[in-house]
Amino acid sequence: MNNGDQDLILFIPCIVEILILISCIWAGIDSSKIELKKYKTSLSCSPFVLFLGCLLVWIIVFPWYLIVRGKIKSGTIQLKDGMSLSQPVITTEPTDSRIEKKCPHCAEPVLIDAKLCKHCGSKLDFQ
Ligand SMILES: [Zn+2]
Repeated sequence: MNNGDQDLILFIPCIVEILILISCIWAGIDSSKIELKKYKTSLSCSPFVLFLGCLLVWIIVFPWYLIVRGKIKSGTIQLKDGMSLSQPVITTEPTDSRIEKKCPHCAEPVLIDAKLCKHCGSKLDFQ
């Protein structure tokens, strides 16, 4: 056996460990994104616990997480009672007041509810 082979034998477990660590970190981050602990699943735990579990028994916890994650994504798993996902607040502007018309004086677009043209200052009456 030459030196090259010995390097390879040491190198491979190192790569595997890195891959396991990366997948554990990914599972932790991903589970917090999909809010895993709010779902009715046997794997329902905090991202940090999942990360640790993954690190300790990767061969069981990681495939398990992938299965649970797939079910959550497909909507098979329900949220726990009283739980709701913390969705970002969507601010939608009222569409009816955002309709624009051309100002009859300067031909620039102004809102239909405007009383004065913001471009030329003319009095408007679209009604
Ligand atoms: Zn105008």
